[in-house]
Amino acid sequence: MPEQTRIRVPANEGRSFRVRAGEILTIVDIEGRQIGDLVFFSAADPHERLSTSCTRARCGRLQVREGDPLFSTRGRPMATIVEDRVGAHDIVSHPCDKGRYELDFHVIGHPSCTENLVGALREIGLEDWWLPDPFNVFMNTVFLEDGRYFTEAAISRAGDRIVMRAEMDLIGALSACPQDLYPANGYRITDLEVIVGDTNEHMGQR
Ligand SMILES: [Zn+2]
Repeated sequence: MPEQTRIRVPANEGRSFRVRAGEILTIVDIEGRQIGDLVFFSAADPHERLSTSCTRARCGRLQVREGDPLFSTRGRPMATIVEDRVGAHDIVSHPCDKGRYELDFHVIGHPSCTENLVGALREIGLEDWWLPDPFNVFMNTVFLEDGRYFTEAAISRAGDRIVMRAEMDLIGALSACPQDLYPANGYRITDLEVIVGDTNEHMGQR
């Protein structure tokens, strides 16, 4: 059995992790309909971070698909999506934050992806200003012809996963998005799982 590290990301919380170049990273939506806000940093130099704007430009699309790389602020591939059977992930939205809950939903003290990611990254020595816009796995963003876009309930089902291959040594962080005030997570916040290392199903894709 290949070596694996499994990290449970509890509902409403965030966790950080490391992935070596060439390793497989899998994010599992354990119960379904749960968005995860995912960020990457180069482990060699964390000034180099995920850039969803560079990813959009280089892929020429507002959404990513199987085979697409996720690019860094220096225009280099950080990870490549090697398996995706869900087909609905987001590279246009910012992580939910305190301000969004206070201003838009009038809720004080609601947990947020920004706080979850900042907290997880602080544990490995990265401060809050480092936080890039995330790759929002399982987030179902819908685009209209007139240019507007909005978020609908996630379509991921229990056990669905997105699988990536690290293209450089990475520091990562994932937040199980606490947004329970609109339908994005089906009004029910649940755990995610991070698996670092090959799983048998993906060995053939290396
Ligand atoms: Zn969120």
